[in-house]
Amino acid sequence: MALNAFTVDVEDWFHICGVDDRLPASQWDRLESRVVPTTRALLDDLAAAGQRGTFLVVGWVAERHPALIREIRDGGHEIGLHGHRHRRIFEMTPEAFRQDLRDNLAALAAAGAGPVVSFRAPEWSLNHRAPWGPAILAEEGLRIDASRAPVARVGSPGYPRRPYPLATPAGALLEVPPLVGRLAGHAVPLGWGWGLRKAAPADVVSAIAANNRDGDPAVLTVHPWELDPAPPHVRLPAPLAFAHYYKLSGFRERLRQVLAGAEFGPLCELPDARAWLAD
Ligand SMILES: [Zn+2]
Repeated sequence: MALNAFTVDVEDWFHICGVDDRLPASQWDRLESRVVPTTRALLDDLAAAGQRGTFLVVGWVAERHPALIREIRDGGHEIGLHGHRHRRIFEMTPEAFRQDLRDNLAALAAAGAGPVVSFRAPEWSLNHRAPWGPAILAEEGLRIDASRAPVARVGSPGYPRRPYPLATPAGALLEVPPLVGRLAGHAVPLGWGWGLRKAAPADVVSAIAANNRDGDPAVLTVHPWELDPAPPHVRLPAPLAFAHYYKLSGFRERLRQVLAGAEFGPLCELPDARAWLAD
């Protein structure tokens, strides 16, 4: 049983949505891949803290680094999907999304990942802009989705903040939202991105404890590139630059303190997920 979930979106530093003009997929193979050492840093820190999590893997990464997928599996972590080509769901057709999912599943199976039940869309994009998306996930055999952020811009502050069933014509998914905080009256990321990097570890730990006192899990999300000691930078539009580059310095140490302060596990072992998967 895991009180909280620790999740990792396994992607390289150049997997950034919305910048096809600067970092087109056709160029990815020519860029320096840094995902293996940075993912290993996370695996090391989790092992040192005695914690496990869910690694949601971009299929493109699994195809190029299958040994990394086996290292994740052998560490006792859950492996899930983060899109094969790391494209926003609402920018694909339903048919293209289905094919992307199948390619993602095939890449993980070829790497030896084992059964897969969990998904997170790139940039939280399985939202109201892709209303047809959840049914396709259910049809392709996924059971847990962690793609709906209860914040503005990438999601909606109206989305629930604890796990809930998301009905689709092909059966329901268990939707597992990430941890949010409040800043000046607005819901902000506390369990991921700039909010997690900015927060004092003690504040994150106390927010997790407050959720747990209410009987709710807290879900954290990080990226391997956030632990890169010397991440390559490209010129990005302001909101993306903030999301990717703000307050990276010292983040690995702050994250270690968060990992030491609460009990984490994979998405599929949250109490809500255990009951869901047993049904
Ligand atoms: Zn991503």
